[in-house]
Amino acid sequence: MSTVWMNQLSWVDYEARLKRDQPAILLPVGALEQHGPHLPLGTDGMLSSAVAADAAARIGALVAPGLSYGYKSQPKCGGGQHFCGTTSVDAATMIGSVRDAVREFARHGATKLVIVNGHYENQWFITEGIDLGLRDVGGSAALQVMRLEYWDFLSETTLATVFPDGFPGFALEHAAVIETSLMLHYHPSLVRLDLIPEEPPVDFPPYDVYPTRKHWVPLSGVLSSARGSSADKGEAMANELSVRIAAAITHEFG
Ligand code: ZN
Ligand code: MN
Repeated sequence: MSTVWMNQLSWVDYEARLKRDQPAILLPVGALEQHGPHLPLGTDGMLSSAVAADAAARIGALVAPGLSYGYKSQPKCGGGQHFCGTTSVDAATMIGSVRDAVREFARHGATKLVIVNGHYENQWFITEGIDLGLRDVGGSAALQVMRLEYWDFLSETTLATVFPDGFPGFALEHAAVIETSLMLHYHPSLVRLDLIPEEPPVDFPPYDVYPTRKHWVPLSGVLSSARGSSADKGEAMANELSVRIAAAITHEFG
């Protein structure tokens, strides 16, 4: 059985694979961040890695080990930085890590890099890292980079099924139904359904204040309820995500 995981290959096999097939390399990015009392701190990276592995298996791509620390958690989408366990990096670190990865994969001779983001706050720092990395390697390099947030591949139809009472929006979907259902599908032994808090969606004001207002965020760290999560919903979402992400990679990169 061939693996999708780049770090399980020898350098010799990796080089041969690159030369022979020019596989896309998927790089998951996550965070170490509180996800309520019912999900593990590494949820964002576990999910971006699992989704990347499923998509890669469909198209013969490889998955590199993920970047496991993310940009600082924000109150409105990740609860904020005041939770024990949330362990974040400065923007410059995030940008530098992605920039270094882009430059290294270009040096290997990879031509297709796909950054699979699982942590909302990372998006523009990943984008900056890609831009600087591509500038480093120069315009003549063959490397193309795709960036995606995996949740953007969920269709309206699927979201309507997962949220029969209405979708609260992706920002509040922190440790809520999407992440909890996907974790029930991929890592059921890490989910504590009995500890899901029963709280209404948080109603944030349309501005931010610094230092952040801890009292805006529920003590549990959950921004909208994870009630209604299920492994079946997780399986349906995981399936759609891997099919549609694989299709997008094939569409852009062949
Ligand atoms: Zn998350
Ligand atoms: Mn996050």
